[in-house]
Amino acid sequence: MNARSQPLDALVIGAGPAGLALAGELVGAGLSVRLLDPHPPQPFPATYGAWLDDLPAWAQACAAQVWTDVRVYTGPHATPLLRPYALLDNERLASTLHRRTRGAPRTQGTAHHAEQVTGGWAVHTRGGDTLHARFIVDAAGHAGSVTRSHHPGGPALQTAYGLTARFDRPPSPPGAAVWMDYRTPHGPGEPTFLYAMHLGGDTYFVEETSLIARPAPTRAQLRARLHARLAAQGTPAAAILHEEWVAFPMNVAVPGPAGPLAFGAAGGLVHPISGFQVAQALHAAPLVARAVAAALRCGQDPHVAAWAALWPPERRAARDVHLLGVRALLNLPGEQLAPFFQAFFALPPAAWRAFLDPSTPPGPLARTMLRLFAHLPTRARLPLARAALADPAVSARALLAAMNAPTVSAHPRCTPVPQAGSMTDRTDTDRAVRQHEDLDQTAPVTDGMQGATGSADANGLDPNVNLEERVDELRENLRPLTES
Ligand SMILES: Cc1cc2nc3c(=O)[nH]c(=O)nc-3n(C[C@H](O)[C@H](O)[C@H](O)COP(=O)(O)OP(=O)(O)OC[C@H]3O[C@@H](n4cnc5c(N)ncnc54)[C@H](O)[C@@H]3O)c2cc1C
Repeated sequence: MNARSQPLDALVIGAGPAGLALAGELVGAGLSVRLLDPHPPQPFPATYGAWLDDLPAWAQACAAQVWTDVRVYTGPHATPLLRPYALLDNERLASTLHRRTRGAPRTQGTAHHAEQVTGGWAVHTRGGDTLHARFIVDAAGHAGSVTRSHHPGGPALQTAYGLTARFDRPPSPPGAAVWMDYRTPHGPGEPTFLYAMHLGGDTYFVEETSLIARPAPTRAQLRARLHARLAAQGTPAAAILHEEWVAFPMNVAVPGPAGPLAFGAAGGLVHPISGFQVAQALHAAPLVARAVAAALRCGQDPHVAAWAALWPPERRAARDVHLLGVRALLNLPGEQLAPFFQAFFALPPAAWRAFLDPSTPPGPLARTMLRLFAHLPTRARLPLARAALADPAVSARALLAAMNAPTVSAHPRCTPVPQAGSMTDRTDTDRAVRQHEDLDQTAPVTDGMQGATGSADANGLDPNVNLEERVDELRENLRPLTES
């Protein structure tokens, strides 16, 4: 047995921001960790933006630039967002994350598949290496490696084509970050928006973005649109410094608890409405690492413990609410996107911020959705109602879960779950799955939406209402509209 096949505590597949962050926290928790990635250490290739207050303090120090003038255009006038937005310095982020792994060894290779073996798992690489560890993390990005994501209804993609370029005239307001500019359509098909940042001097980052679509606009379409937009503004790029192509699925379902832990983009941490993921992975890493270390100490299955830490019941319920939002957005006719986001950013800042925050409990999330619905123009409401009613079981589950779930974020803990047995003996794992499965459709609605009744953001439901009956009733009332 060579050094590389010694059983480790943890093997992290993928050295992107998510894998490195988790590897660093696992090392910090006293575990032996190895990284597996096809490449030697290198700066991350993508342009990473994040709300400054979403980043942990140490990562805020990795910001290349921070804007306080942050705007959206959903009509002719700018809406100020009054929330600082950061562009990450990828070299600084990568070197900080590497430092946090304290020199954890790294194998250059591509994970091919994993199998459960006595005392842990074996990961086989394409090059023929076999690496053993008690805990396996799949942080190999959107495509994953030894785990597979599920996308309800098929992958719905965010696609974007961006340029870092020098301009003779500013293509977006100097000194500002424009989070979303839906003003002028440039080309046939669903509207896309401009995401832009002034990088200083005559240099700007401009990206033509399709928030979410199935099928999504292609690179060639978005490239043509971006250049058409810049030409129409009279601000063509004078010198292109860098091009970026973005394409990833937004609607990954919560992965199952058994087997290797899917983390980062591989594990459904991409926010289904914004597409953000990096800040979320940085926050989740220490929670997962603590749960893994505790599970290994008490002889429990670290995968089940890690999954329970990452996906506590309210997080899973919140994901259901978000995926409902994805379906609604996919159903929205293109010309209604700008009015939709106009209503969204007209919500009190605390409400839209909470909606974009993956840790917001499902109750407030569902209330924000209902409140948003109430403020939308009728033409935007009907397709959303159709989307929700197209699969009333999912809608009811999201709302039931929202109303059932506690309204505080759970702190993950090392839950008393049994050690998973061999590959063929799933009994213990299944029991653990059931133990963590709270989305029971038959559970009575015991807790109403606290403070909702009679308040401005009330959903109008009595706490003891039978929600499935209400959904049926709503469906009946909307039948003439949804059948038209
Ligand atoms: C162009 C682009 C821009 C984005 N912008 C933002 C943004 O502004 N803000 C934000 O929050 N999110 C953004 N995202 C979404 C998401 O956060 C990123 O995709 C992020 O890089 C995901 O991090 P990750 O560590 O999970 O995966 P990745 O960064 O994809 O890293 C995965 C790592 O795994 C390695 N790997 C892949 N397959 C294997 C294998 N089989 N075996 C071993 N190693 C493997 C890869 O080499 C890579 O190093 C963007 C995505 C893209 C594509």
